[in-house]
Amino acid sequence: MTNKTTSNTNLNQLKERVVLVTGAGDGIGRAAANCYAENGATVILLGRTLKKLESVYDEIVNSGSPEPLIHPMDLLTATPQDYDDLAEAIKQELGKLDGLLHNAGILGKKAPIASYDPNTWCEVMHVNVTAQLMLTQAILPLMEESDDASILFTSSGVGRKSRAFWGAYAASKFATEALMQTLADELEGISNIRVNCINPGATRTRMRAQAFPAEDIKKNPAPEEIMGLYLHLMGPAGKNIHGQSLDAQNWNAPNPSQ
Ligand code: NAP
Repeated sequence: MTNKTTSNTNLNQLKERVVLVTGAGDGIGRAAANCYAENGATVILLGRTLKKLESVYDEIVNSGSPEPLIHPMDLLTATPQDYDDLAEAIKQELGKLDGLLHNAGILGKKAPIASYDPNTWCEVMHVNVTAQLMLTQAILPLMEESDDASILFTSSGVGRKSRAFWGAYAASKFATEALMQTLADELEGISNIRVNCINPGATRTRMRAQAFPAEDIKKNPAPEEIMGLYLHLMGPAGKNIHGQSLDAQNWNAPNPSQ
């Protein structure tokens, strides 16, 4: 069973917060951007395809949520200076950053290790891991100024137990789990920033269709249906959760009366 989420019985959970979402133009990132905005956040939409970001911008504005900002950026080619410029732009325009969802990712090719193309390997590792490192480094000082900040990384089932032919993608998701755990341990007890990983599980997106072309994609939940955990960990309700890797599907919100 999947949790029907945006489960926004309590809207405004992210009121007056500023949240940056990577890969916000499509799939899970698009749903998260809409969910966060619907809950009162000013969302910075980061992605590589301007047209898709503009379409999400329109969705958010038309729903009456706070106006988002668009920040086109290709994580494959962005330099440390580009990340520093982004952090500075957020500081100048919005004054703070309370949340970061590292969501953008690429699959690369499913192929045996024996013949895995090293260039594809490097591209997947760069977009899925190194870009997250550089973005995190650039925005940490700004997030340190927030009273309650949340950084979320995106993992995968093959980031915990790999399988044949998942090559660079699986390695990148293991590395993502390690990056999250290392950062969480470094910030433990000395920071207001909490750091966690989400495994979305099989979700109805372009990447899932690419990974499983023969599958009936409709059997998987839509991104909007798995947003409960994304919202919980980003907002004040998840304040005590740190250094964990959780599954978005079959996740049940804790009962506040317990
Ligand atoms: P998706 O629909 O393919 O969306 C991926 C997003 O990442 C797109 O917005 C894409 O932008 C962006 N992106 C890719 N390369 C980029 C780059 N170089 N620079 C900037 N943005 C870039 O995939 P998804 O299924 O929503 O995946 C979201 C996350 O969930 C990924 O980290 C994925 O590994 C993870 N995940 C997904 C599933 C699943 O079943 N769907 C399962 C486990 C984990 P464009 O649209 O412009 O290309």
